[in-house]
Amino acid sequence: MKKMNRKKRKQLYTALGFGGAAILVAAVMAACALFFRQPEGAEEGTIKAPDYVTEDFLVKNPYSRPGDPLEEVNGIVIHYVGNPNTTAKNNRNYFNNLPKTNLKNGVETYASAHFIVGLEGEIVQCIPLSEIAYASNSRNHDTVAIENCHPDETGKFNEKTYASLVKLAGWLCFTYDLDRDQVIRHYDVTGKLCPLYYVEHEDAWEELKDDIMAEKAALQKAAEGE
Ligand SMILES: [Zn+2]
Repeated sequence: MKKMNRKKRKQLYTALGFGGAAILVAAVMAACALFFRQPEGAEEGTIKAPDYVTEDFLVKNPYSRPGDPLEEVNGIVIHYVGNPNTTAKNNRNYFNNLPKTNLKNGVETYASAHFIVGLEGEIVQCIPLSEIAYASNSRNHDTVAIENCHPDETGKFNEKTYASLVKLAGWLCFTYDLDRDQVIRHYDVTGKLCPLYYVEHEDAWEELKDDIMAEKAALQKAAEGE
């Protein structure tokens, strides 16, 4: 074997050193990427909604899914979409497309909800329960938001939407141990006429809350019986 002279050997060690450092840096970067990667889905440990809910999470973006953690849940906020006869999917896509439409229209609309209840009673989940939605202004940080579709301008929910809303809200109240006064309207936060029909008809609102509490009680009873 030919002996390397000192200079050559030094060059070889330097090259090996660079190579090793490069491999180390690549390994550390890969580990960081694994550790800090932000999946579009829910993080592990997030409370999962029941099977009758379809997960169709928004892509993370600053206008509808900022990814900020929802650290506590002290209420549920009920909304109406305000756009008669649109489906849950339509409204989900509207939220998801806000980055594009905002750019096109030169506006900055921020809007979303955790759940949208549709005209057929279908429920679409847009945001995992570990993250905030942009729905209820000063209460975004500690509430779960439910948008509801409606067939006409009155904003009254049809029977299927109503039944699914009661089921979902009852489950949320059971899961987070919320009572009657923790079920609120968007109106109760900002004075906005949302959900319109249930702001204009206080009796219908009281009845809706009764129905949600009855659903919570039924779930509690079922859980105790297990
Ligand atoms: Zn609202």
